[in-house]
Amino acid sequence: MTQTTQKTGVIYCRVSSYDQLEGTSLASQERLCREYAERQNIKVLKVFVERGESAKTADRTEFTKAINRCKDNKNKISVFIVYKLDRFARRLKDYIDIKDLLVQAGTELISVTEPYGTGPSGIAFGQMLSLFAELDNNMRTERTVQGMLERIKQGVWVWKCPVGYYRPAKSNNIAPDPNSAHFVKMIFEEWAKGEHTFKSLAELLTSRGFRTSFGSVPCQQLMEKILKNPLYCGIIKIWGKEYEGSFEPIVSKNLFASCQPGFGKISAGPRPHSINNPLFPLRKLVVCDLCDKSLTGSQSRGRSQKYAYYHHQKQGCDKTKFIPKETFEQFFVEYLDSITPSPRYEKIFKAVMIDIWKNNYKRLDGQNAVIRKDIAILEQQRQKIFEFHQQKKYTDEEFEEQKNLVNERINQKRLLIREKADEEFDMEETLDYCFKFVRNTAKTWLELEPDYLARLRFQQRIFKGKVKFDGRQFGTAKLSPIYQLNQDYQKQKSDLVAPPGFEPGLPG
Ligand SMILES: [Zn+2]
Repeated sequence: MTQTTQKTGVIYCRVSSYDQLEGTSLASQERLCREYAERQNIKVLKVFVERGESAKTADRTEFTKAINRCKDNKNKISVFIVYKLDRFARRLKDYIDIKDLLVQAGTELISVTEPYGTGPSGIAFGQMLSLFAELDNNMRTERTVQGMLERIKQGVWVWKCPVGYYRPAKSNNIAPDPNSAHFVKMIFEEWAKGEHTFKSLAELLTSRGFRTSFGSVPCQQLMEKILKNPLYCGIIKIWGKEYEGSFEPIVSKNLFASCQPGFGKISAGPRPHSINNPLFPLRKLVVCDLCDKSLTGSQSRGRSQKYAYYHHQKQGCDKTKFIPKETFEQFFVEYLDSITPSPRYEKIFKAVMIDIWKNNYKRLDGQNAVIRKDIAILEQQRQKIFEFHQQKKYTDEEFEEQKNLVNERINQKRLLIREKADEEFDMEETLDYCFKFVRNTAKTWLELEPDYLARLRFQQRIFKGKVKFDGRQFGTAKLSPIYQLNQDYQKQKSDLVAPPGFEPGLPG
């Protein structure tokens, strides 16, 4: 080893309240850190030890000095060695801040012991992982829905064939069924005369020979169902939208319209919609910042056009007004853009997560070693079973039973190892995957439109509670960790002070 390529480092030691319980002294911390440096051929430039009062308070004089040492010697100090990360990073946010400073200084952060477990950072990490899992699920749904939507846009009926239609072989789409389409047409024509009840209509169709696909007599509910289904006039109605079908309609649009309830009347005024109206994904999520009531959505129906609005549920608030859905959602998209994490935060956040992950690796390796040992013992047992069988100590039946039992236990253990191997492998990819959506929060939200429920779940992953709206702007929402940490991070960036005083709310 030549001196010119030797890595250099500083060591930071501090007692925590746990150490007093565990009996880890400052001396043993320092020894372990030095041993680590020696093994890695790192030249220790200085050891910073937090003693006395500053070890108990937020001051951390030595810590500040240690960090400054790295900053002042940019790219000259390779590593910052600590005994445990929780010596300074009690919260994920602290860790992100420190990581940021050290990355700028060109210094790598190293923890000598396995750092993350049940502490607050470990918990935050767990939350993060569940966020990824959730996102991944959403996006998987979204991809499926997206594919489906593409076909619907092309006018393809993608679901089970309704009465009157069939799906010809080699064809993607449905076509009128020569055996039953004329009955469906008859249902509409008869109903348009205005002389029938659903019951009398069903009886008429029965007498003409109409049977369901199961060969049974049609009931009045079926009449109603058919009459209400716009599919028969060539319209695919789904998720609050209508698409023109590219299959042959059985009845004309006029005939269909004349069979609908309220035909010839014009409904007046906005009508409140059901809770799960896909048109209004922001319903309930958004509250008025003046009266604190959540907004709702309504649709007014003109003769040829529909208008959708978000508005107050109750009259009387000064800010009561109807805002066209498009305008309102445009405001919302702008707001999403404003809370989307910056590329710089993304970089730091990923680095932190990978640090934590690698440290969890070590523990996984340990656990896997235990499992492998268990498997070795089981394999010995298996060997014994074969020997017993050869020595006729086991009957054939007993042998089979014992052999299967031990094989099953071995397989279970092997599965445990493989599952962990999968986990180990995924972290970086998972982060990239997750940030593909986080980085494009607004775009993701827009693209989830066809899947209303996935969209609601995505919103829940961004916001921890309600979002306030003042008539023009959104703001003061409780954000989920990945977004909130970014806010804290940006805020700290813009503060001119920016000392490495890692207690939030306390001056450095
Ligand atoms: Zn209000």
